Amino acid sequence: MSHEHPYGKALNVLSFSKDNKVLIDEDAMKKMFEHPDVKNRKIVSFSIIGAYRKGKSFFLDYCLRFLYAHYPSINFPNNPTSDKENWMGAENEPLSGFSWRSGSIRDTTGIIMWSDIFLHTSTVNGDKIAIIVMDTQGLFDNQTSPVGNSRIFALGTLSSSIEVLNLFSVVQEDQLQYLQFATEFAKFAANDSHGNAGKSFQKLVFLIRDWVNPDEHPFGFEGGATYLQHFLKIQNEQKPELQSVRKFIQSSFEEIDCALLPHPGNIVTGGSRKRIKYNGSWGGMSEDFKDELFAVIETLLKPDDLIIKKINDKDLEGFEYLEFMLQYFQIFQS
Ligand code: GDP
Ligand code: MG
Repeated sequence: MSHEHPYGKALNVLSFSKDNKVLIDEDAMKKMFEHPDVKNRKIVSFSIIGAYRKGKSFFLDYCLRFLYAHYPSINFPNNPTSDKENWMGAENEPLSGFSWRSGSIRDTTGIIMWSDIFLHTSTVNGDKIAIIVMDTQGLFDNQTSPVGNSRIFALGTLSSSIEVLNLFSVVQEDQLQYLQFATEFAKFAANDSHGNAGKSFQKLVFLIRDWVNPDEHPFGFEGGATYLQHFLKIQNEQKPELQSVRKFIQSSFEEIDCALLPHPGNIVTGGSRKRIKYNGSWGGMSEDFKDELFAVIETLLKPDDLIIKKINDKDLEGFEYLEFMLQYFQIFQS
């Protein structure tokens, strides 16, 4: 169920054909990154990745609400309704943006970019910034091959400066190994043999949904930080492969964060007995979930914490970002 959004739409810039070839919508990407307001701005690229039907698009659509309330965009330059305090909108406002709960049959796979781009000038150093939002789809569904999974995952990592890894209930060892595999794949594609101290990728955020252990690690970024410490800790008695996956992840990202979200309640998950047709509004969320969701988004997208996409330690502007992305997408063509 998705309502039409007034200012933008989801563009499936990278998808897979039936015989697993990579299809790229180069025209759509050019239109976005050669836009006069974007091509010479530094790029912040914010993405989410993880298994299907775990609330990724739902989360991103609330992020879009935050972004529209805080920044002008190429399609909505005057942003007249900007009300930063009430960025979450009205209690019963239907959720629109990236298509969420699109049914059990997936429609698109690969990388989906929001056609509208947000514009910001840093209050710290005056940098002119363009913020792009990316969704991914098809990861770990039963139709995508392991190679397809690695490609989506690696491309997501290559294209992001802030990458949210959306996981369910706990972080499992196989998910860390998968992250390592995809990150190695991404490093290889970036031809990154970093001899210097710089790390290949910028920020990774573990977002844990339906967290059930708030007594041990409370919800939000606070409990996320202690939980992260717990699961990324390298211990002598750990098997060597468990140690090396942890070292690898920590050596690949400049910053790693974690946030824990509660279960959203039965209306959101569709488990309500009354079978009300849920429109995504926050009125349908459990009180806990709503509060934590809003707080997590406010921290994650705090204007001065936005991280610029870098390759080989150099900040990328829109036109360079386009070049790199098209190049990376080609590598995965075969
Ligand atoms: P995606 O495939 O990961 O993008 O998932 P969607 O955003 O399309 O959401 C799939 C379903 O999960 C929808 O019915 C949402 O209402 C529901 N959902 C949203 N957030 C959460 C959450 O935090 N936990 C659970 N269990 N379900 C959620
Ligand atoms: Mg989705």
